[in-house]
Amino acid sequence: MRYLSTRGHPERRRFSDILLEGLAPDGGLYLPEHYPRLEAADLARLRRTYHEQGYAELAFQILSLYIDDIPADDLRALLRRTYTAEVFGTGEIVPLRHVEDGLWLEGLSNGPTLAFKDMAMQLLGQLFEYELARRGETLNILGATSGDTGSAAEYAMRGKRGIRVFMLSPHGRMSPFQQAQMYSLQDPNIHNIAIEGVFDDCQDIVKAVSADLAFKRRWRIGTVNSINWARLLAQVVYYVAGWIQATEHDDQRVSFAVPSGNFGNVCAGHIARMMGLPIERLVVATNENDVLDEFFRTGVYRVRGSAETHETSSPSMDISKASNFERFVFDLLGRDAAATQRLFGEALARQGRFDLSQPPAFAEARARYGFVSGRSTHANRIATIRDVWQRHGMLIDPHTADGVKVAREHLQPGVPMIVLETALPIKFAATIVEALGREPERPARFAGIEDLPKRVQVMPADAARVKAYIETVCSEGSRAP
Ligand SMILES: *Cc1c(COP(=O)(O)O)cnc(C)c1O
Repeated sequence: MRYLSTRGHPERRRFSDILLEGLAPDGGLYLPEHYPRLEAADLARLRRTYHEQGYAELAFQILSLYIDDIPADDLRALLRRTYTAEVFGTGEIVPLRHVEDGLWLEGLSNGPTLAFKDMAMQLLGQLFEYELARRGETLNILGATSGDTGSAAEYAMRGKRGIRVFMLSPHGRMSPFQQAQMYSLQDPNIHNIAIEGVFDDCQDIVKAVSADLAFKRRWRIGTVNSINWARLLAQVVYYVAGWIQATEHDDQRVSFAVPSGNFGNVCAGHIARMMGLPIERLVVATNENDVLDEFFRTGVYRVRGSAETHETSSPSMDISKASNFERFVFDLLGRDAAATQRLFGEALARQGRFDLSQPPAFAEARARYGFVSGRSTHANRIATIRDVWQRHGMLIDPHTADGVKVAREHLQPGVPMIVLETALPIKFAATIVEALGREPERPARFAGIEDLPKRVQVMPADAARVKAYIETVCSEGSRAP
């Protein structure tokens, strides 16, 4: 399998070449040259595999369609180490629970940081360690986080050989639980940097450091952001596992409702559907930051400025633009790289928007690709958490509540609707208290984490200070025995 750029760069690369990278050299995103096709016999085989051999082997069957430059035995061993009941809490890894008529919940949040990002990030940790060892290289991961991504990256990379993590977070602005999750890590290869500023300041520093190419090369700076192809690929597996659990026959269709921000999660659903998984609809659920809902309703994609980007009670969906969206638009335009370059490289840069409302492109988003959408507000979120708790005794987090709210607007008779549970309620306790007047239960392993000793450097919002810190840590590290 070779990978191409959505903006038409002529080079074709292999999985291991793009694993450690972000954008393609022309600013595009990587996609496979084609989507491997799952025929009826393949679907039957995957169903048997999941039931008889479990999630890790299912993942192997799917990932090996896309990865042909890691020996099969090595890939299988990596996946078996990643998707274990110890790490993900259950043997099913992504258990399906029935909520009400036609509506199901797929649990993607039972990993170490209680959000769905663990599903991909845990594998990324294994893949990075493997590939770096194979090349005899090391990598310093630099990132900015307002919560879920940073902690998922740290828990995936802790203790991994050849990898250090420098994670910037806005000082004092994450929930106490999220701060404790990250700052209590004592692993010597994990470096928390709390920036005196907001999340945008953290992101600006990461951009400034990455723009210094000499510094980036010298200190081998890399990222693990949501455009990484391996993360998307890992996510395809749980769409297949969700379909298997919700159906008995291989021709039965299901729909998925996905709480969305950067379009990473639902883009994996799009890939699963392109491969031939029987998916009827992909329901994109947004919060008040409704860039994607606007597109799927009107055909106009309009990036928001920071004044128009709201801080909401489903904060992991607070985005101004959806960084993976270019992948879907590339497919929607019949994989026309020149047209994709005109939209993302030119129109967005110049006007901050583009308009695909003219047929046929936009009409096909729904008819051919199954996409529909909806939006959920703070009031909807609170009402949905309360309703699902009172009627079904199930406690869901604010992001999942956005998914349930929008899913209910798109139910079709006879088609199971699977809502992806993207976080557990304990991460967002304040909103649960607002909805129910009580604290969510806390898994035993997180008892009292707010009181653990913290390992974090507080710094002003100054890229030079962050660079100096990285240099100090890395040069000390290289002198160590
Ligand atoms: C990251 C995240 C999302 C949004 O996922 P995207 O892939 O960015 O669309 C939704 N919910 C939670 C809890 C998250 O952490």
